[in-house]
Amino acid sequence: MKVILAQPRGFCAGVVRAIEIVERALQKFGPPVYVRHEIVHNKHVVESLKAKGARFVEELSEVPPNAVTIFSAHGVAKSIEEEAASRALPVLNATCPLVTKVHNQGKRYVAQGRRLILIGHAGHPEVEGTMGQISEPVTLVQTENDVASLDIPKDTPVAYVTQTTLSVDDTRGIIAALHERFTDIVGPETRDICYATQNRQTAVRELSKRVDVILVVGAKNSSNSNRLREIGSEAGIPSYLIADGDELRPEWIEGARAVGITAGASAPEVLVDDVIDALRRVAPVEISTLSGPEEKIEFRLPQELTAA
Ligand code: SF4
Repeated sequence: MKVILAQPRGFCAGVVRAIEIVERALQKFGPPVYVRHEIVHNKHVVESLKAKGARFVEELSEVPPNAVTIFSAHGVAKSIEEEAASRALPVLNATCPLVTKVHNQGKRYVAQGRRLILIGHAGHPEVEGTMGQISEPVTLVQTENDVASLDIPKDTPVAYVTQTTLSVDDTRGIIAALHERFTDIVGPETRDICYATQNRQTAVRELSKRVDVILVVGAKNSSNSNRLREIGSEAGIPSYLIADGDELRPEWIEGARAVGITAGASAPEVLVDDVIDALRRVAPVEISTLSGPEEKIEFRLPQELTAA
């Protein structure tokens, strides 16, 4: 059986930075350190940081006084920052710089007097964080149909920003519908929402031209991993989201001559290896990697940790 790996796949610069922030905080301050929400959406990553002394909480009220507190890569609402400040918690912010950039774009548009529309998935922590960073009400739009039912006058000055785990391709239709709906509308250059989301989606489209089945290594609650699976399915290739090798079902790959593997931005390469090992237990495999861009982007760590 041929196994073809997508390139790029797996960890992006924002995830690498977030994990490194927790690891360096543990080295510098000693365990425990408290992380609000899963630092990135991957159980394997969370469990390995737990084993080193990180404690994961959903609410700041669970963090004891003076304990080192880390905000996850998805970002947080202003109210969370204020709560941490009012309790004088020492905070390290692991919000991905590309998410912070969306927050800043949104704030700039609102300061210009525009009504802000966020294109994203309801309930995702990044969406909650972005909406909570803006001082004015934000309208969430998830589909082109949502645009049609917006109760905002046509000539209202509006602006849009997007969730980073949506690619240029994901948002194109919604943005076009917004431009049709409003006469005075602006938005950022979508090309640079998130390089990692776009690159992984382009790679899975390439993969879908060459394989019979696609396995997307990633967590069930990972927005970008789910999207990779959907893209494989939309291309007509049976595609499955798989957390690790234990979840492989032999019937998925029955009769497949070529199996494609990719991984969401929060899935470590060790889990890709684990899935390959599981495939090896079913049949001998011949592994190759698709050609694709080498990502060289790195994000700087918070200053407090660079000497750790
Ligand atoms: S997927 Fe993009 S926005 Fe999200 S953490 Fe990675 S680099 Fe940052």
